[in-house]
Amino acid sequence: MRTLGLLGGMSWESSAHYYRILNEEVRRRLGGSHSAACLLLSVDFAEIAALQHAGDWTALGQRLQGHARQLAAGGAEALVLCTNTMHCLATEIEAATALPLLHIADPTGAAIRARGLRTVGLLGTAFTMEQAFYRERLTAHFGLEVLVPEATARQTVHHVIYDELVRGEVRPESRTAYRAIIAELVAQGAEGIVLGCTEIMLLVDQGDSAVPLFDTTRLHALAAVDWALD
Ligand code: GLU
Repeated sequence: MRTLGLLGGMSWESSAHYYRILNEEVRRRLGGSHSAACLLLSVDFAEIAALQHAGDWTALGQRLQGHARQLAAGGAEALVLCTNTMHCLATEIEAATALPLLHIADPTGAAIRARGLRTVGLLGTAFTMEQAFYRERLTAHFGLEVLVPEATARQTVHHVIYDELVRGEVRPESRTAYRAIIAELVAQGAEGIVLGCTEIMLLVDQGDSAVPLFDTTRLHALAAVDWALD
Protein backbone atom coordinates (compact mmCIF):
# COMPACT_ATOMS: atom_id res chain seq x y z
CA MET A 1 0.00 0.00 0.00
CA ARG A 2 1.25 3.47 -0.84
CA THR A 3 1.25 6.27 1.74
CA LEU A 4 -1.16 9.18 1.25
CA GLY A 5 -0.37 12.72 2.37
CA LEU A 6 -3.55 14.49 3.44
CA LEU A 7 -3.39 18.26 3.41
CA GLY A 8 -6.33 18.92 5.70
CA GLY A 9 -7.88 21.11 8.33
CA MET A 10 -9.82 23.03 5.70
CA SER A 11 -11.82 22.38 7.68
CA TRP A 12 -11.08 19.59 10.15
CA GLU A 13 -14.81 18.83 10.19
CA SER A 14 -14.44 17.29 6.74
CA SER A 15 -10.87 16.02 7.22
CA ALA A 16 -12.20 13.79 9.99
CA HIS A 17 -14.56 12.24 7.45
CA TYR A 18 -11.73 11.75 4.98
CA TYR A 19 -9.76 9.88 7.64
CA ARG A 20 -12.73 7.67 8.48
CA ILE A 21 -13.65 6.94 4.85
CA LEU A 22 -10.04 6.08 3.92
CA ASN A 23 -9.69 3.65 6.79
CA GLU A 24 -13.13 2.08 6.39
CA GLU A 25 -12.58 1.58 2.68
CA VAL A 26 -9.12 0.01 3.09
CA ARG A 27 -10.58 -2.36 5.70
CA ARG A 28 -13.53 -3.15 3.42
CA ARG A 29 -11.20 -4.01 0.53
CA LEU A 30 -8.35 -5.76 2.38
CA GLY A 31 -10.22 -7.11 5.38
CA GLY A 32 -8.95 -7.96 8.84
CA SER A 33 -7.21 -5.13 10.65
CA HIS A 34 -5.95 -3.37 7.52
CA SER A 35 -6.09 0.42 7.56
CA ALA A 36 -4.89 3.32 5.42
CA ALA A 37 -1.22 4.30 5.42
CA CYS A 38 -1.35 8.09 5.60
CA LEU A 39 0.00 11.31 7.00
CA LEU A 40 -2.39 14.13 7.95
CA LEU A 41 -1.14 17.69 8.06
CA SER A 42 -3.96 19.79 9.52
CA VAL A 43 -3.83 23.59 9.46
CA ASP A 44 -5.53 26.30 11.54
CA PHE A 45 -8.48 27.10 9.28
CA ALA A 46 -9.10 30.57 10.75
CA GLU A 47 -5.79 31.71 9.26
CA ILE A 48 -6.64 30.19 5.89
CA ALA A 49 -10.14 31.71 5.77
CA ALA A 50 -8.78 35.16 6.64
CA LEU A 51 -6.27 35.01 3.77
CA GLN A 52 -8.96 33.72 1.37
CA HIS A 53 -11.32 36.57 2.19
CA ALA A 54 -8.47 39.09 1.93
CA GLY A 55 -7.77 37.70 -1.54
CA ASP A 56 -4.17 36.87 -0.63
CA TRP A 57 -3.84 33.80 -2.86
CA THR A 58 -0.08 34.36 -3.14
CA ALA A 59 0.40 33.86 0.60
CA LEU A 60 -1.96 30.88 0.55
CA GLY A 61 -0.01 29.33 -2.31
CA GLN A 62 3.25 29.72 -0.43
CA ARG A 63 1.77 28.16 2.70
CA LEU A 64 0.33 25.18 0.88
CA GLN A 65 3.58 24.68 -1.01
CA GLY A 66 5.38 24.55 2.34
CA HIS A 67 2.87 22.04 3.69
CA ALA A 68 3.19 19.88 0.56
CA ARG A 69 6.96 19.79 1.13
CA GLN A 70 6.43 18.80 4.76
CA LEU A 71 4.24 15.88 3.69
CA ALA A 72 6.78 14.81 1.06
CA ALA A 73 9.59 14.96 3.63
CA GLY A 74 7.46 12.84 5.96
CA GLY A 75 7.17 10.05 3.43
CA ALA A 76 3.91 10.78 1.61
CA GLU A 77 3.75 9.39 -1.92
CA ALA A 78 0.76 11.41 -3.16
CA LEU A 79 -1.03 14.56 -2.01
CA VAL A 80 -4.75 14.63 -1.14
CA LEU A 81 -5.87 18.24 -0.67
CA CYS A 82 -8.99 17.86 1.47
CA THR A 83 -10.87 20.89 0.14
CA ASN A 84 -12.36 21.85 -3.20
CA THR A 85 -11.65 25.56 -2.88
CA MET A 86 -7.91 25.30 -2.44
CA HIS A 87 -7.64 23.36 -5.69
CA CYS A 88 -7.55 26.84 -7.22
CA LEU A 89 -3.87 26.57 -6.20
CA ALA A 90 -3.40 23.05 -7.61
CA THR A 91 -0.73 24.17 -10.08
CA GLU A 92 1.32 25.88 -7.36
CA ILE A 93 1.01 22.89 -5.02
CA GLU A 94 2.02 20.45 -7.76
CA ALA A 95 5.08 22.55 -8.51
CA ALA A 96 6.31 22.32 -4.90
CA THR A 97 7.15 18.60 -4.88
CA ALA A 98 7.49 15.67 -7.28
CA LEU A 99 4.40 14.03 -5.75
CA PRO A 100 1.17 13.62 -7.74
CA LEU A 101 -1.80 15.69 -6.53
CA LEU A 102 -4.96 13.57 -6.68
CA HIS A 103 -7.32 16.29 -7.94
CA ILE A 104 -10.77 16.31 -6.29
CA ALA A 105 -12.62 17.27 -9.48
CA ASP A 106 -11.44 14.17 -11.36
CA PRO A 107 -13.25 11.40 -9.46
CA THR A 108 -16.23 13.78 -9.29
CA GLY A 109 -16.33 14.27 -13.06
CA ALA A 110 -15.81 10.55 -13.63
CA ALA A 111 -18.71 9.66 -11.31
CA ILE A 112 -21.01 12.11 -13.09
CA ARG A 113 -20.10 10.67 -16.49
CA ALA A 114 -20.53 7.14 -15.18
CA ARG A 115 -24.16 8.07 -14.41
CA GLY A 116 -24.54 9.31 -17.98
CA LEU A 117 -25.18 12.93 -16.93
CA ARG A 118 -24.15 16.03 -18.90
CA THR A 119 -25.43 19.02 -16.92
CA VAL A 120 -24.78 19.50 -13.22
CA GLY A 121 -25.32 22.19 -10.62
CA LEU A 122 -22.33 23.17 -8.48
CA LEU A 123 -22.56 24.14 -4.81
CA GLY A 124 -19.45 25.29 -2.98
CA THR A 125 -17.74 28.36 -1.63
CA ALA A 126 -18.07 31.56 -3.66
CA PHE A 127 -14.46 30.97 -4.74
CA THR A 128 -15.34 27.56 -6.18
CA MET A 129 -18.63 28.64 -7.75
CA GLU A 130 -17.36 31.93 -9.18
CA GLN A 131 -13.75 31.31 -10.19
CA ALA A 132 -13.14 29.25 -13.30
CA PHE A 133 -10.73 26.57 -12.01
CA TYR A 134 -13.32 24.01 -10.92
CA ARG A 135 -16.03 24.48 -13.55
CA GLU A 136 -13.45 24.54 -16.32
CA ARG A 137 -11.87 21.29 -15.22
CA LEU A 138 -15.27 19.55 -15.22
CA THR A 139 -15.98 20.97 -18.65
CA ALA A 140 -12.55 20.43 -20.24
CA HIS A 141 -11.87 16.92 -18.88
CA PHE A 142 -15.40 15.51 -18.67
CA GLY A 143 -17.48 17.52 -21.18
CA LEU A 144 -19.91 18.72 -18.50
CA GLU A 145 -22.07 21.80 -18.48
CA VAL A 146 -21.87 23.34 -15.00
CA LEU A 147 -24.61 25.57 -13.58
CA VAL A 148 -24.18 27.70 -10.47
CA PRO A 149 -26.87 29.33 -8.32
CA GLU A 150 -27.75 33.01 -8.82
CA ALA A 151 -25.88 35.66 -6.80
CA THR A 152 -28.05 35.77 -3.65
CA ALA A 153 -28.19 32.00 -3.46
CA ARG A 154 -24.40 31.81 -3.89
CA GLN A 155 -24.02 34.13 -0.91
CA THR A 156 -26.28 31.89 1.16
CA VAL A 157 -24.35 28.75 0.21
CA HIS A 158 -21.03 30.46 0.98
CA HIS A 159 -22.09 31.88 4.35
CA VAL A 160 -23.54 28.59 5.55
CA ILE A 161 -20.15 26.96 4.82
CA TYR A 162 -18.00 29.57 6.58
CA ASP A 163 -20.31 30.63 9.41
CA GLU A 164 -21.79 27.23 10.25
CA LEU A 165 -20.43 24.04 8.69
CA VAL A 166 -16.70 24.60 9.24
CA ARG A 167 -17.63 25.42 12.87
CA GLY A 168 -19.53 22.16 13.24
CA GLU A 169 -22.98 23.80 13.21
CA VAL A 170 -25.67 21.99 11.22
CA ARG A 171 -28.91 24.00 11.17
CA PRO A 172 -32.28 22.80 9.84
CA GLU A 173 -33.06 26.23 8.38
CA SER A 174 -29.85 26.09 6.34
CA ARG A 175 -30.79 22.63 5.08
CA THR A 176 -34.13 24.08 3.98
CA ALA A 177 -32.33 26.91 2.15
CA TYR A 178 -29.99 24.45 0.42
CA ARG A 179 -32.93 22.28 -0.63
CA ALA A 180 -34.56 25.28 -2.31
CA ILE A 181 -31.30 26.20 -4.08
CA ILE A 182 -30.87 22.62 -5.28
CA ALA A 183 -34.48 22.58 -6.55
CA GLU A 184 -33.88 25.82 -8.46
CA LEU A 185 -30.77 24.34 -10.15
CA VAL A 186 -32.82 21.27 -11.10
CA ALA A 187 -35.52 23.55 -12.55
CA GLN A 188 -32.78 25.16 -14.67
CA GLY A 189 -31.74 21.79 -16.07
CA ALA A 190 -29.28 20.28 -13.59
CA GLU A 191 -29.40 16.48 -13.81
CA GLY A 192 -27.12 16.10 -10.81
CA ILE A 193 -25.68 18.30 -8.04
CA VAL A 194 -21.99 18.48 -7.11
CA LEU A 195 -21.49 19.00 -3.38
CA GLY A 196 -18.36 20.93 -4.29
CA CYS A 197 -17.35 21.78 -0.76
CA THR A 198 -16.16 19.03 1.52
CA GLU A 199 -18.45 20.10 4.41
CA ILE A 200 -21.76 20.18 2.53
CA MET A 201 -22.22 16.45 3.11
CA LEU A 202 -22.64 17.32 6.79
CA LEU A 203 -25.82 19.26 5.90
CA VAL A 204 -27.59 17.54 3.00
CA ASP A 205 -28.02 14.02 1.75
CA GLN A 206 -29.79 12.33 -1.14
CA GLY A 207 -33.17 12.87 0.53
CA ASP A 208 -32.74 16.62 -0.02
CA SER A 209 -32.49 16.38 -3.79
CA ALA A 210 -34.62 15.04 -6.65
CA VAL A 211 -31.48 14.36 -8.72
CA PRO A 212 -28.27 12.47 -7.80
CA LEU A 213 -25.85 14.20 -5.42
CA PHE A 214 -22.10 13.89 -5.96
CA ASP A 215 -20.36 14.08 -2.57
CA THR A 216 -16.81 15.24 -3.33
CA THR A 217 -15.51 14.24 0.12
CA ARG A 218 -16.45 10.62 -0.38
CA LEU A 219 -15.53 10.46 -4.07
CA HIS A 220 -12.12 12.01 -3.40
CA ALA A 221 -11.34 9.73 -0.46
CA LEU A 222 -12.37 6.62 -2.42
CA ALA A 223 -10.19 7.71 -5.36
CA ALA A 224 -7.28 8.11 -2.93
CA VAL A 225 -7.81 4.52 -1.76
CA ASP A 226 -7.80 3.36 -5.40
CA TRP A 227 -4.46 5.07 -5.84
CA ALA A 228 -2.97 3.76 -2.60
CA LEU A 229 -3.91 0.17 -3.39
CA ASP A 230 -3.22 0.26 -7.12
N1 GLU B 1 -13.86 22.60 2.62
C1 GLU B 1 -14.36 23.58 1.74
C2 GLU B 1 -14.20 23.21 0.28
O1 GLU B 1 -14.22 22.05 -0.03
C3 GLU B 1 -14.26 25.01 2.10
C4 GLU B 1 -13.14 25.43 2.99
C5 GLU B 1 -12.01 25.98 2.19
O2 GLU B 1 -12.12 27.09 1.74
O3 GLU B 1 -11.01 25.30 2.01
O4 GLU B 1 -14.11 24.05 -0.57
